[in-house]
Amino acid sequence: MSKTHVVCAACNAKNALPEGRLGDNPLCGKCKSPLFTAHPVELNTAGFERFIAGNDLPVLVDFWAPWCGPCLSMAPAFEQAASALEPAVRLAKLNTEDEQMIGAQYGIRSIPTMVLFHQGREVARQTGAKMAGDIVRWVRSQPV
Ligand SMILES: [Zn+2]
Repeated sequence: MSKTHVVCAACNAKNALPEGRLGDNPLCGKCKSPLFTAHPVELNTAGFERFIAGNDLPVLVDFWAPWCGPCLSMAPAFEQAASALEPAVRLAKLNTEDEQMIGAQYGIRSIPTMVLFHQGREVARQTGAKMAGDIVRWVRSQPV
């Protein structure tokens, strides 16, 4: 059976899970944290590349900032989308005010912007606040 690599958001360890076990609430082999919590994980500059490239699963990143009203209004929708899409897709947030280098590196010009990555590569992006159902449908319509 093939293995799926999943990066732990708590300690950055890369776990190799049998594909059929993703839905069984797997724990990180190193720190024992749950790998999937049905909540978006917070990324920072140090862990960003490893998280988007080290996961075999697609990673949807919400680029946001605390001063951005539409970002804050979309936050509950993004939470809901996380519980709908995990464990097939991992959802993460990147605070572009705290981590400006990452925002610049990925050409984030307005927020909120959602970028879907697969194995470190950008697959799709869209800008503007969305409802949970729209986020889920958009992600599921992408070729990953
Ligand atoms: Zn861990």
